[in-house]
Amino acid sequence: MNAPAPIDTAGADAAPLHDFVAALGGLVDRADEAAILSEGSRRLADLVSRDGWLPAAYAAPDPSRYQQYLLHRDPANRFSVVSFVWAPGQATPVHDHRVWGMVGVLRGAELVEDFARRDDGRLFRVGSLRTLAAGEVESFSPATGDIHRVANAYDDRVSISIHVYGADIGAVERATYDADGTPKLFISGYAALPALIP
Ligand code: FE
Repeated sequence: MNAPAPIDTAGADAAPLHDFVAALGGLVDRADEAAILSEGSRRLADLVSRDGWLPAAYAAPDPSRYQQYLLHRDPANRFSVVSFVWAPGQATPVHDHRVWGMVGVLRGAELVEDFARRDDGRLFRVGSLRTLAAGEVESFSPATGDIHRVANAYDDRVSISIHVYGADIGAVERATYDADGTPKLFISGYAALPALIP
């Protein structure tokens, strides 16, 4: 069996990510969800306020589909950190998460639309389409609504956001939604790279 080729991390110092992961591990040890989201969002804003720590291999777009690179999975699967890389014009379907999450934009910008379900199962949009710009952070929870659609705000450049979830998100069974609100279960997995921080 061949050993996997080493990932080229030249030019990127992952120290800010190591600091973030350590801080988040401490938070999930001692804090409730509200405190994880508020303090975690502050830490995530700090992480995405600077660039230069994400190796190029974890920032590479794919013209066929937006990419989700695993940066770190907590050993107890209590949280995961993912770099989400959008080629120009790419967008997700409407989808849910079923765990808490935080999103911070590292490069470019995202367009976000939030949805909720009516009693009859149909979806309706909550609020208006909004832009999340580089440096901005938002969070969500199943308790307050975790259904959205996200897109690269640009049709001529790559955008990258850092996502944090309250589970090993690549293994969580969750749903995308048709226009009429019909859910379709899926498991996202990750792009085929080892975690940046094992
Ligand atoms: Fe999402």
